[in-house]
Amino acid sequence: MINLYNYLTKKKEVFKSIKPRQAGFYACGPTVYNYAHIGNLRTYIFEDILKRALEYGGYRVKHVMNITDVEDKIIRDSRKAGKNIFDFVKPYEKAFFEDLKKLNIEKAWKYPKATRHIKEMIKIIAALLKKGLAYEAEGSIYFDISKFKSYGALSGLKNRELSAEGGPATGWKAGARVDVDEYEKASAEDFVLWKAAKAGEPAWSAPFGKGRPGWHIECSAMSMKYLGETFDVHAGAVDLIFPHHENEIAQSKGATGKSFAKYFIEGEHLLVNGEKMSKSLGNVYNLRDIEAKNFNPLAFRYLILTAHYRSKLNFTWESLQAAQNALENLKNIFAATKNNAKKSKISEKDFRKYKKEFLTFINDDLDMPRAVALLWEIIKTDKISAKTKYNLILDFDKILGLNLSKIRIKNIPLIIAKLANEREIYRKEKKFAEADKLRKKIESLGWLVEDTSAGYKLKRD
Ligand code: AMP
Ligand code: ZN
Repeated sequence: MINLYNYLTKKKEVFKSIKPRQAGFYACGPTVYNYAHIGNLRTYIFEDILKRALEYGGYRVKHVMNITDVEDKIIRDSRKAGKNIFDFVKPYEKAFFEDLKKLNIEKAWKYPKATRHIKEMIKIIAALLKKGLAYEAEGSIYFDISKFKSYGALSGLKNRELSAEGGPATGWKAGARVDVDEYEKASAEDFVLWKAAKAGEPAWSAPFGKGRPGWHIECSAMSMKYLGETFDVHAGAVDLIFPHHENEIAQSKGATGKSFAKYFIEGEHLLVNGEKMSKSLGNVYNLRDIEAKNFNPLAFRYLILTAHYRSKLNFTWESLQAAQNALENLKNIFAATKNNAKKSKISEKDFRKYKKEFLTFINDDLDMPRAVALLWEIIKTDKISAKTKYNLILDFDKILGLNLSKIRIKNIPLIIAKLANEREIYRKEKKFAEADKLRKKIESLGWLVEDTSAGYKLKRD
């Protein structure tokens, strides 16, 4: 049974699905106004691990990831580019799917687009108006947070003072309104559900006037349409807890009177050189930047696996280089193990023992760093047969997603792969004399080690 940290209850809980052996899983997808940056990609990889872990545990996962194709930033940047929003987002949407493929992220069941679900959004807004949870002001529709008792429960804002003016017991500015899609905690106010049409902005007809949806309502509409009013898991990164997920809960529960997602699983952020990514620092990297430096996208995936999803991860080019070296090592040793596996027998007892240990880590709120450490322990041990190792590694890779089954590498004898791995460790520790000794040993066995920016390569002499 898998335990996951649920932001709704602020504790680790045993995951129990609503329907047996099936899990409804909604993850907030990209706002396609630019290429996904490596922070976004960290979140998509974490969500892929979560989904694969549920599948590994026997659940059929109905995974929905939306594409936000109408929103403030899209409108702003499409105008700058002199394009309509539909033409403007197209290349970024295409790039997003390319990124997923390169990172070996499993395809979702559905990728609904916001602009194709306006009807569903209008329906929710109409229900909120009818229940008195929303109101009209200057042609726009707002959610009245003072009418929704549990507003702030997810983000922990509920009992916090939020404005100098005070307001009701809950502390936010009663009646103050916020029109923009993204805002900070300091302004927990009535948020916009439907924005009155403005010249030069896309607009749709609605019973309450022409306009366009606010960002938050998009996810309520698309998640409930495909997964039902109450579903299992909602995921994203921590920046979405407030206001996005808080608002999603308010809108959805407010409209249906039923509970929304049962588990909110939120991943921590990726930093670059210890800092938040920002245009002004010039550190907003995407997968194209990684590839331009000759890194394998899967090395980035490996790097993500080395940190727990609820810990911040600091990206540096050195850490990516180390991840790439580790992945190359892993592939070399795995290829050698594959060759030896043909001549060896599996031990079911060993297989079960290590699989059980692996599951202990996965089921403990996706402890991937320990799962990866176990993988290396298995690779290095001489105590289990090559066939057992091979089967275990392929089995683990169902969750790790490093695409190890697809590796085609020359027949490198295990002894050579192991020596090369040891040499790499010495090099990392800057013990060059020891590393050189091993190079000579490898050469004496008829192989050459070549150091490249993508890690070392082994060649027959
Ligand atoms: P967006 O396209 O801005 O809606 O973001 C897509 C996903 O990336 C969301 O789940 C965000 O929470 C997440 N995200 C944004 N910035 C970061 C970051 N620095 N590290 C990790 N995830 C992030
Ligand atoms: Zn969302």
